[in-house]
Amino acid sequence: MFDSLSDRLTGALKDLRGKGRLTDSDIDATAREIRLALLEADVALPVVRTFVDRIKTRAKGAEVSGALNPAQQVVKIVNEELVSILGGETRRIALAKTPPTVIMLAGLQGAGKTTLAGKLAAWLGKQGHTPLLVACDLQRPGAVNQLQVVGERAGVPVYAPQPGTSVGGEGEMGVSAGDPVEVARGGVEHARASHFDTVIIDTAGRLGVDDELMRQAADVRAATDPDEVLFVVDAMIGQDAVTTAQAFAEGVGFTGVVLTKLDGDARGGAALSVREVTGAPILFASTGEKLEDFDVFHPDRMASRILGMGDVLSLIEQAEEHWDAKQAEEAATKIMGGELTLEDFLQQMLMIRKMGPIGNLLGMLPGAGQMKDALAQVDDSQLDRVQAIIRGMTPAERADPKIINGSRRLRIANGSGVSVSEVNQLVDRFFEARKQMAAMTGRLGGPGGSRKNT
Ligand code: GDP
Repeated sequence: MFDSLSDRLTGALKDLRGKGRLTDSDIDATAREIRLALLEADVALPVVRTFVDRIKTRAKGAEVSGALNPAQQVVKIVNEELVSILGGETRRIALAKTPPTVIMLAGLQGAGKTTLAGKLAAWLGKQGHTPLLVACDLQRPGAVNQLQVVGERAGVPVYAPQPGTSVGGEGEMGVSAGDPVEVARGGVEHARASHFDTVIIDTAGRLGVDDELMRQAADVRAATDPDEVLFVVDAMIGQDAVTTAQAFAEGVGFTGVVLTKLDGDARGGAALSVREVTGAPILFASTGEKLEDFDVFHPDRMASRILGMGDVLSLIEQAEEHWDAKQAEEAATKIMGGELTLEDFLQQMLMIRKMGPIGNLLGMLPGAGQMKDALAQVDDSQLDRVQAIIRGMTPAERADPKIINGSRRLRIANGSGVSVSEVNQLVDRFFEARKQMAAMTGRLGGPGGSRKNT
């Protein structure tokens, strides 16, 4: 669903790549692109403003990190701010100290409440709970029946208002049709008496927000004192999601949000606005019509999905974890002066390899998805050989590779179990690379520019 947002954000951030240093106008330009991307994705204007302001302030005050180049730093900031507007930590459902835990669903008609009731029930069942569904949508024709079908599919009994229509062989599971508040109250009492540990109350929705709908939902809430009131919202309704959420927040109040239809091709702004506007966390996401198209909502995973850079982000994390700033700075200075030694090279290689198998690292680079086959051939054993060759050299040879003459090459080859031509290749390539790096950093003019090469 976030495809175009994802593309635009990635595009905005891509322009920064390769820049050794970011000026305020680079940051302003990126911020403008991000702003447009969010507005186009239907994110609510106040949310866009806050988000873009935070990014600008943070990027300009750039928390300097030796491990990351400036573009990576901005990616990291954008990611952290995305996680933050999506709610930060994953919020788990609040269970009652004394069962049953009562969960009430509220939202507009068609939002996906009934479908969600089944999904939530099946999910709770898998977690070892014993849920009961309560059918309080007495407005929409067929809603009770729909819940019963859903309940049957989920293998969860339904407490329904018409006698004789319940499933699950629970006996007296029906009350007379009529008052949703009475049905809700009866459902919770039945759950308590029959030792169900969770109750999911499906309430009526309307096509639009109206007083009667709000009053009824508020009455059901007052009568059942739920542990969670979940506002269910169709992510495809765009900007309306925010106004509807505000109306429900005022009229009924809720403790959490469930986003449905995240599988759709809408622009996804609702997902990014609802939490920030209402302050209520997003607990679950629904991504299809089937029971299993449902999951706990994880702000961090969603953010990296939106950024389309999940792997780059883990690369950034690993780089920060394993980075030795002092060593890197020394190497950069040496590269600039054309003084890099094989010992430095070995140390740099060891540092990078601490981050994991090289194929994985390369696989994390953007666009690597399409080159999977080629990457599969990048082999740690080749790097092992390079390491072995350098280790077979004396400290003097590592410090000044120019002294490695023919007889030394033969000794190194024998010592490290490789052929002389492999040693030749390594030494030749090293000189060539050193020359190129010195030329390049000379052009870029500073150690900041050389970071890309490490
Ligand atoms: P309610 O009126 O709020 O109870 O909404 P329903 O549960 O009846 O859902 C309305 C329609 O949306 C139904 O056709 C559902 O199958 C469909 N639906 C619900 N959740 C999702 C979802 O996550 N993805 C998709 N694609 N369809 C969904």
